[in-house]
Amino acid sequence: MRMSRYLVTIGLEIHCQVKTASKMFCSCAVEYGAEPNTRVCPVCLGLPGALPALNREAIRLSILAGLMFGCRIPEVTTWDRKNYFYPDMPKNYQLSQLHAPVCQGGEVGLDRLHFPNDFQKQAPEGKVVRLDHIHLEEDVGKSTHYENNSLIDFNRAGTPLMEIVTEPDMESAEEAVALLNALRQNLIYGGVSDADMEKGQLRCDVNISLRPPGQKELGAKIELKNLNSISAVRRAIHHEIERQSAELDAGIPQVQSTRRWDDDAGETTLLRTKEDAHDYRYLPDPDLPAVETAELLAAARRDVPELPHHKRQRFTDAYGITPYDAGVLAADRALADWFEQAASAAPAGAKKTANWVINELLARLNADSLHAEQCPVSPQRFAALVDLVSSGGVSQNQGKEILDAMFAGDAASPEAIAAARGFEQVSDSSSIEPFVDQVLAEFPDKVEEWKQGNAKVGNWLTGQVMRHSKGKANPRVVSEMLRSRAGLE
Ligand SMILES: [Zn+2]
Repeated sequence: MRMSRYLVTIGLEIHCQVKTASKMFCSCAVEYGAEPNTRVCPVCLGLPGALPALNREAIRLSILAGLMFGCRIPEVTTWDRKNYFYPDMPKNYQLSQLHAPVCQGGEVGLDRLHFPNDFQKQAPEGKVVRLDHIHLEEDVGKSTHYENNSLIDFNRAGTPLMEIVTEPDMESAEEAVALLNALRQNLIYGGVSDADMEKGQLRCDVNISLRPPGQKELGAKIELKNLNSISAVRRAIHHEIERQSAELDAGIPQVQSTRRWDDDAGETTLLRTKEDAHDYRYLPDPDLPAVETAELLAAARRDVPELPHHKRQRFTDAYGITPYDAGVLAADRALADWFEQAASAAPAGAKKTANWVINELLARLNADSLHAEQCPVSPQRFAALVDLVSSGGVSQNQGKEILDAMFAGDAASPEAIAAARGFEQVSDSSSIEPFVDQVLAEFPDKVEEWKQGNAKVGNWLTGQVMRHSKGKANPRVVSEMLRSRAGLE
């Protein structure tokens, strides 16, 4: 993609389903994939005369999110009606918050690991995106359109949604992706949302404007509606930067408008021009009381978790692992907890445990599409395996085979699996010595070459001893003994 000669400004509005058992203004269950129109009642169907009742848990979770992002929580939060007609919203208004949203201000720090893999090397360091506010609202139903008719499922209607609105602080598609990844990570960490984009639990509108360098005032705001995957966000923004740049180059001025992203075609099309808050005729909802937040705020404070970037720093300091490795382990709260349990049980130390978690455990979890919570191996047994390998009881490769067996359901201890497979490594020098002497006598030319400084030959000689020992000798002991017997130290 060619670089745009224009300055790019991006803000996001993220809709995120709050993880509650019931809907925002009624007691219907929130359930993904239930039979259509079976989780409904007069309130969420918008029947005349039905009155809403507040779900306080949704407010508490939103405040918890606000505390994680450093938002101000107002003493009182209130509800407004956003009026518009849409077939899957039978009340013809949406309950939302305009005047006193539940969280105000705040910010999200972007970490290198939040950026797309292919962009991490060039990712800006220490970028922070400010939030304008977070408000709560209800989701609408879901329409499915056919050739001659449409079907509507109201199971989703009235589900609590947090809308997180950022300041226009991002300058590239990759920063927008990083912000989404950072938000998802924190929301999952706090148990505020599962933020599963495939299930529609996190959706995103992108506001993007271009202006020539030197111009202070932002260009016309173009909104891209309802992007539902992180890759779509990235591609849609790239496309939109190219499209707007080409039009500006051709002297076509941009006007405030809303566009739809077509994922298959890889392009955006115009939906409508200009739309402002006054078009929605917001008015305070007369049915819902204002909420005093003090009690919910106190409850939320108790549940604020150690944030991912704090955990990462602590892992780096406490365990002596690299910031990158610490970031991988801290990225997922369940994995971080699992690692800490293993590290505290491992006599071999946290650093070796971290290496085994990152290089071996994660690969196996990913291959089986398992989350750390579902890991078939307990942290304690894993720690015992790491210890067995690092004490020379078995080789690295044997350790990996033992881990495979544990993953496949072998419930025996790592030592017992090693013994059953005849894996015990021979580490005592009296058993290894004859093999070493035999190899030194067998290949005097090689030994000479090694002494001249060809390090590869050393590995080859170690391999010969391993072969004589039928793979049972501890390679570390073999290589040390070879060096001393050959007079290299
Ligand atoms: Zn209901």
